[in-house]
Amino acid sequence: MKLRLILGDQLNPLHSWFAQRDSEVVYALFESREELTYAPHHRQKMLAFLHGMQRFAEWLRAEGHSVEHWTLDEPRQRGSLRANLEALKTEWEARTGQTVAVEYQEPDEYRLDQALSGIGQCVPSEHFLTERDGVRRHFASKKTYLMESFYRVMRVKWNVLLDTSGQPEGGTWNFDAENRSSWDPAQQVPREWRAHHDLRELDARLDRHGIPRWGESAAADFPWPSDRPEALDVLDHFVEHALALFGRYQDSLAEGQDFLFHSRISFALNTKMLHPLDAVRAAETAWRRAPERYPLPAVEGFIRQVLGWREYVRGIYWDQMPSYAERNFFGHDRPLPPWMYTGQTRMRCMQVAVDQSLRTAYAHHIQRLMVVGNFALLAGLDPRELDTWYLGIYIDALEWVELPNTRGMSQFADGGIVGTKPYVSSGAYLNKQGNHCASCPYSVHEKVGPNACPFNSLYWHFYARNRPQLERNPRVGMVYRTWDKMKPDHREALLEQAESNLQSINNL
Ligand code: FAD
Ligand code: SF4
Repeated sequence: MKLRLILGDQLNPLHSWFAQRDSEVVYALFESREELTYAPHHRQKMLAFLHGMQRFAEWLRAEGHSVEHWTLDEPRQRGSLRANLEALKTEWEARTGQTVAVEYQEPDEYRLDQALSGIGQCVPSEHFLTERDGVRRHFASKKTYLMESFYRVMRVKWNVLLDTSGQPEGGTWNFDAENRSSWDPAQQVPREWRAHHDLRELDARLDRHGIPRWGESAAADFPWPSDRPEALDVLDHFVEHALALFGRYQDSLAEGQDFLFHSRISFALNTKMLHPLDAVRAAETAWRRAPERYPLPAVEGFIRQVLGWREYVRGIYWDQMPSYAERNFFGHDRPLPPWMYTGQTRMRCMQVAVDQSLRTAYAHHIQRLMVVGNFALLAGLDPRELDTWYLGIYIDALEWVELPNTRGMSQFADGGIVGTKPYVSSGAYLNKQGNHCASCPYSVHEKVGPNACPFNSLYWHFYARNRPQLERNPRVGMVYRTWDKMKPDHREALLEQAESNLQSINNL
């Protein structure tokens, strides 16, 4: 007999495990208190994962497989995945008089890899387009972890956007320069894709078991996909309505627009309802069929996120763990201001990003990187606390993807593995990318004084206080040359303004 464990992020009906029915195999899915409480999660994140598991168990039963799905109400619950699995194994051995072998799919998170180690046979999850150590092997003989070089190899390996002679379509590998326009408020955005699930019962179960969580639940009319057909529908919706303008507005920030032209497939991908090649091939096929409708820069830009960045950050995670979770290059240790949990700040860009995250469990990349992450880095927020925040709040947050993005790309806490320089900006960049500044009580054009945009002085404070660590970075030399050319009293005023902002950070 075999007991096969399915984790909450392994909801892939195409896995070879399920190709045939076997009366000697039992599939196990557990709602475990340990998994629900290792970080404080957003209500929608918790509902989405548990609902996905429930639907997957139903699908397995409908396909004729034997299933043990233990909810929190299950009297046999032991609280952790490992303890549940061991209890179930003992029970099945007693029931059948046979030895029961445990099998599990390769977990994506270091914590689970450790927790399940030695419990049984680990098989591939059949999801990613590289092995866990693919990035390590790719960069073994290189000095830097440049994503672009990895991405080109992936394009060739999977034959994506190549012409018949194996060269990149359009004559170049990367169309970034043609993407990323400022927001145009006259631009219509696509209607939002929504599922309409009633998850009040599930929400009540979490309440009954006292599982702590935050953010809006949306349980009465739950919008996120729950299975592969719905996940494919999200992807189709994106290709049909948003892909063509994905690149152009990829880095835009807009008042009143939660999703812009982003795909919102990250939850479906990270739970493996969708395969990355589903997304890559859908975008490429759209372009090949109708190049006049789907500009190549948009299609290439989208494919780079999935085939490049997503696989790359996973490889960095497995290359660098467990020490990566301890990285704090700048030694930042300021606690998160309380408004990171309420959205009650006067800074309009931060208010919109945090409020939207609490309301929808989603923020798009530029909000995560250049609004919240940018402020956090400028203000020297503790990257450990910040990780917990990111890991909790977003629907798609799993440590293998959240950690390299937060510690690495956003906070430069890895000292420059993922990024070659810190992603920081003053208010001018945020003003260029969108229209939040127009409705902000702070003035993006002022650098000092009570109305000055806090990003402006904090930007210089960040560079001044971290000069020993950054001065020799060739990509930031220009910043210090500009700083050194400023009049000493202006530099002093900027630093004083930043200090005053930091002292009153809870009231910004
Ligand atoms: P789109 O903008 O439509 O992009 C398409 C897909 O590309 C995404 O679904 C995602 O799978 C992939 N992708 C794009 N950028 C990245 C990236 N930098 N790393 C990995 N995959 C990428 N993504 C997560 O899936 N989980 C996280 O916990 C997470 N945390 C992040 C934390 C920070 C600080 C930052 C800066 C980024 C984080 N990202 C994370 C990456 C990215 O912001 C999200 O994948 C994206 O916003 C999800 O929305 P979407 O599906 O609409 O993406
Ligand atoms: Fe954000 Fe500054 Fe613009 Fe206000 S003025 S929205 S704080 S960048």
